[in-house]
Amino acid sequence: YPHSLQFYLDPPTENISLVEFESFAIDRLKLLKAVENLGVSYVKGNESYKTKLESELRKLKFPYKALAEDDYEARRKDHISHFILRLAYCQSEDLRRWFLQQEMDLLRYRFNELTDSLRQKFLEHINLSFEPVSEDLKNELANELCTSTPGFSMTKVKEQMFYMVGLADAVDLFRARRVFIKGGLAYVPLKDIDAIVLNNYRAKLSKALALTARSLPAVQSDKRLQPLLNHLSHAYVGPDYSLQKSAGKISLDQIDALSVKSFPPCMRQLHRALRDSHHLRHGGRMQYGLFLKGIGLTLEQALEFWKKEFIRGKVDADKFDKGYAYSIRHSYGKEGRRTDYTPYSCMKIIMSNPPSQGDYHGCPFRHCDPELLKQKLQAYKVPPGGIAQILELVKGMHYQLACQKYFEVTHDVEDVGFSLNHPNQYFTESQRLLSGAREVKKEPSNSGNSQPKSISQESKNLSSAPTSSSSTVAAAELEELEAYFTED
Ligand code: SF4
Repeated sequence: YPHSLQFYLDPPTENISLVEFESFAIDRLKLLKAVENLGVSYVKGNESYKTKLESELRKLKFPYKALAEDDYEARRKDHISHFILRLAYCQSEDLRRWFLQQEMDLLRYRFNELTDSLRQKFLEHINLSFEPVSEDLKNELANELCTSTPGFSMTKVKEQMFYMVGLADAVDLFRARRVFIKGGLAYVPLKDIDAIVLNNYRAKLSKALALTARSLPAVQSDKRLQPLLNHLSHAYVGPDYSLQKSAGKISLDQIDALSVKSFPPCMRQLHRALRDSHHLRHGGRMQYGLFLKGIGLTLEQALEFWKKEFIRGKVDADKFDKGYAYSIRHSYGKEGRRTDYTPYSCMKIIMSNPPSQGDYHGCPFRHCDPELLKQKLQAYKVPPGGIAQILELVKGMHYQLACQKYFEVTHDVEDVGFSLNHPNQYFTESQRLLSGAREVKKEPSNSGNSQPKSISQESKNLSSAPTSSSSTVAAAELEELEAYFTED
């Protein structure tokens, strides 16, 4: 790896263990999540943004200092992990878009951190080598550069490096009349070179993602990799909410009040629908049932809760006991393979199984029409300013950040103080706040990785990350459970 920065043109060819495969992928995912969070919380490229991103890179052991020569391991990890996530995130348009955006932001940050000479070396390395304008030539053309480059004073022209770029690479700047042209070359200031590099990177990465998607069937036929890749694309890097630490701490008659105070909108909506129609289709039962289990409903409570509600509708007690009760026991690990099922993470809810007509599962920020979402938020008494901010985040496809904003306005805190990845995390944080157990943070923070956890949600830390076989079994088991729930 000649540079700390890469365009990821050649895939890795070495053999790696499945444990390393998974741990690299999880770390990159954490990094990209941090990039997303920071990009919304701070102005991209300002000092706080840069400091926080550098600290994430250091923490996760990715190359953070362009000058460091002895970071072979970090560069290797950077290279391999990028390609693993490429495999996981090429599978749908939404995933590709998200991955591309975060990788672009990461590259922009890293490129701008390079020293002039390293930048030059990197440009040569990726065949985008542009000749710097010499000091003499710059002085000679200072007037032209100043008048043809918007936002540039004479002093700024003197300070910044300019590069001579072929018109084909600078076509956007040229079209927008933002650049001085002479002798078939555009004189591009350093601040615009990153745009050229990024455009180039975007084109290459989009194409690579499309090509990867085409070869996906071959990769997916590998039984070890397929479940891992699917888990990654629904990636979740927080605590495991299947562990019932709070089992039995909630009584059934608290649920209505809790659904208003402490449920995230996805679960609040499911609860309301269940109360209104005394039924939920299987997608809703899966999503809501496992969430309730995660917040502490015991099996006995769950059976009572669902039965009471369903028999108020069209299902009689006998039908409930014969069909639905089995699937509830199954989700608590008391039937079939006896697996303790894990509540769904936001990514899983957002990225898979979109709701159709008559369904109430999914994430309202992702799956609701904006007008309907607005009405819902009004009904939830979110103030107009908050609604506008939430809708803006939704427009930028930052669904979990929109949910964090919802948390802030409904809990009257300035800063949510955590990075939302899971509906059960939302609930726990809300309860901590409402019970006074959490100190309200005033400083904006990006705590996206404060609770690192394996994707397969079975290990306490990365060193004990599960092997692919556990992921395989988990995936197979989940399918089995979903099959039980298919009865509407
Ligand atoms: Fe639920 Fe997560 Fe969507 Fe919030 S972001 S509504 S917690 S799925």
